[in-house]
Amino acid sequence: MGKLTEEEEQLYRIKQAKEKLGQRLLILGHHYQQDSVIQFADLRGDSFLLAQEAARSNAEYIIFLGVYFMAETADIVTSSSQKVIIPEPGAGCALAGMADIGQVEHCWHKVKRLFPGEVIPVTYVNSSAEIKAFCGKNGGLTCTSSSAETAFRWVFEQGKRILFFPDEHLGYNTALKIGFIEDKIALWDRHQGILEGSNDPGVILWNGFCPVHVEFTSEIVNKVKKDNYATNVVVHPECPRKTVEKADFNGSTEQIIKYVNDSKPGSRWAVGTDLNMVNRLRSESEGKEIISLNSSVSPCKDMMKINEQNLLWCLQNLTCDKIVNQVKVNSEVSYWAGEALKRMLSIR
Ligand code: SF4
Repeated sequence: MGKLTEEEEQLYRIKQAKEKLGQRLLILGHHYQQDSVIQFADLRGDSFLLAQEAARSNAEYIIFLGVYFMAETADIVTSSSQKVIIPEPGAGCALAGMADIGQVEHCWHKVKRLFPGEVIPVTYVNSSAEIKAFCGKNGGLTCTSSSAETAFRWVFEQGKRILFFPDEHLGYNTALKIGFIEDKIALWDRHQGILEGSNDPGVILWNGFCPVHVEFTSEIVNKVKKDNYATNVVVHPECPRKTVEKADFNGSTEQIIKYVNDSKPGSRWAVGTDLNMVNRLRSESEGKEIISLNSSVSPCKDMMKINEQNLLWCLQNLTCDKIVNQVKVNSEVSYWAGEALKRMLSIR
C-alpha cells in the first residue's frame, strides 16, 4: 500500500477502530450528516427512527452522529448499562435551544392562569430532555414531524387546548392541516413573555424556528416553479406555512426520501431540507433530477460539527475502554421524558 494522505489515514483508522469494537458498538447516523462520517453509520435515519434503533440495540456503546437532543433521546430509551456518545457535545440544535426550561415554566404559569385545567403541553422531539420531561410531568407528550397531527388530535379529543414547543412553523402547519383557522391560533413570544393573537386559542405556539428550514421561502417556491426547474416541490414541515402551502408535498425526512424514491424515473424535484440530505438523495437516485429548493442555504451548522476527527477520537478512546463525550440524562428528567415519549408511541 502506497503512502496514505492524512485524510485517508484518518478514515483507515476509523475503520480499524470500528472493526476492533465489533458488535460492542452501534453507530447511528442522521440523514443530515456529511458523507465523510455517515459512511461509518451502521444505520441511517431521522431522529425518531434512530431512537427506535437505539432502543432495539444491545450494543454496549452507541455513537450518535447527530445533534445533542438526539443523543439524549437515545440515552433515555436505552438501558442504564449502555453508553450513548456524541463525537462533539457542542453539536446542539438551534431550534431545540430556543426553548429553555426557565422560559417554558414562565409561559406555563401564565397560560395556566388564563386557561386553568385546559392546556396540555406537547413538544416536538427537537427539544431538550428537560422540555420533554416537563411535558411528561404535565400530562403531555412528544411528537415527531410525522406524528404531530396525531398528537394535536389527541389533545383536542380531550377537549383541551395545546401548548406546542418549540417550532412555530411545524405547529402552524399542523394546526392548519387539521382545520384550525387563524383566529384560533395564538403565539407565545419567548423574548417578551407575552401571548399574541387569539384570545380564545385552541393552539398556542412557541415562537421558535429552525434557521435552516426558514430559508426555504414561498418566493423561492414561486421562482423554482416559474423557471420550471422542477415539476415537484417537496419540503419539510419546519418550513414556513406559505412555503408548505405552495409545495406539492411536505413530510418528515423519512417521508421525503420515500416519496422521491417512489417517484417515476425522469421526474424532477426541488427539495426543501438540509443540503447534505438533498445531495445524497441525488447521488443515490438514478435517473431523477434532484436539486435543493434553495441552493444558497448551507447545511445545518450543528450537524456539521460532527466530523472524522472527533469520531476517530471517540472510537480510539473506546478501543482503550475509555468513554469520552458520554451523554447522560439525569434519572428524574429521564423518567419523565420517557413518559412523554411512551405516550407518543401509545397514540401513533
Ligand atoms: S436542521 Fe434545524 S432542526 Fe435540524 S438539527 Fe439543524 S437546527 Fe436543528
